[in-house]
Amino acid sequence: MKVTEHLDAAQGRTLISFEILPPLKGKGINALWEHLDPLMEYKPAFINVTYHRSESMFKRKSDGTFDKVEVRKRPGTVGICAAVQNRYAVDAVAHLICGGFSKQETEDALIDLNFLGIDNVLVLRGDAPKNEAIFEPQPGGHKYAIDLLAQVQRMNSGLYLEEDLKSPVKTNFCIGVAGYPEKHFEAPNLKTDLQFLKAKVDAGACYVTTQMFFDNQKYFAYVDACRAAGINVPIIPGLKPLTTKKQLSIIPRTFHVDIPEALSEAVLRCKTDADVEQVGTEWMLQQSKELKAAGVPVLHYYTLGKPHVVSNVVKELV
Ligand code: FAD
Repeated sequence: MKVTEHLDAAQGRTLISFEILPPLKGKGINALWEHLDPLMEYKPAFINVTYHRSESMFKRKSDGTFDKVEVRKRPGTVGICAAVQNRYAVDAVAHLICGGFSKQETEDALIDLNFLGIDNVLVLRGDAPKNEAIFEPQPGGHKYAIDLLAQVQRMNSGLYLEEDLKSPVKTNFCIGVAGYPEKHFEAPNLKTDLQFLKAKVDAGACYVTTQMFFDNQKYFAYVDACRAAGINVPIIPGLKPLTTKKQLSIIPRTFHVDIPEALSEAVLRCKTDADVEQVGTEWMLQQSKELKAAGVPVLHYYTLGKPHVVSNVVKELV
């Protein structure tokens, strides 16, 4: 079932969804089930599975010199989506990225997703690899998320990369895209960022899922700005719990979002990580309650490593 069908069926009720990462290469799937099993009692409408590019690493050779090798640390998105749907009978949303993938590889992934009965994709550009300042598209790959979106839309119309392919099957993916209440860090200003977001919606994106934020006013202002810019699809807020002091600097640096003063001050007063987790849980609970009261379509939780924190919040909402 498509994300949009879940939203229609909800008739204004706020749904719950979760985001997970594929396990690190070489790890089994059991840790993922231990992570997700306790969250299933909250009946998520769908579960997003992130997609990851390869990173360059240096491998020492026997003569003491180094070889640069490309390592994809978290493969398996397509397989995890199928396994999630199979285990829980809950719809999976496969993330797809431009960075590190050719159009052919993306087409193959979409064909696999279609065979496996996965109806939803969230199309993204991806970031530059660590230690590289600027995003460069893969040779034969896409530069922006909108280009990837166009590829999915072409497949939804039965058009594959080989234009002479006879009797192609039309896919029927529901396509979501990313949005940034605090502006994408590369965009010169919010207005320009929203023009590009509107282009993605006009090209067929059915909904937007936001980057995490810790100040609901930023989300509400963003929704207003989107509506004023003519972006009228559902805007799903993304929420992440803050659980360690280190995240006070890591989150702004990595995700280009602000931590409100009241939250950072409360975290700095904490003596232990358990105290920080308590503060982060309470903060996310208050955010969730306010967003739910405002009638957001879905509360989308980034669960990475902290399913019990998400659980402690969601159980207060149902
Ligand atoms: P785009 O829409 O391509 O935008 C990138 C930048 O280019 C923006 O500044 C935009 O304003 C600008 N822009 C867009 N179109 C044009 C144009 N035509 N001309 C000029 N400028 C343009 N990353 C992963 O690697 N894997 C994941 O699974 C993943 N999941 C995510 C889920 C969510 C909900 C979010 C919010 C982010 C996720 N990311 C993920 C991170 C994402 O890949 C990065 O934030 C990336 O930097 C931007 O992706 P995008 O799809 O928004 O890019």
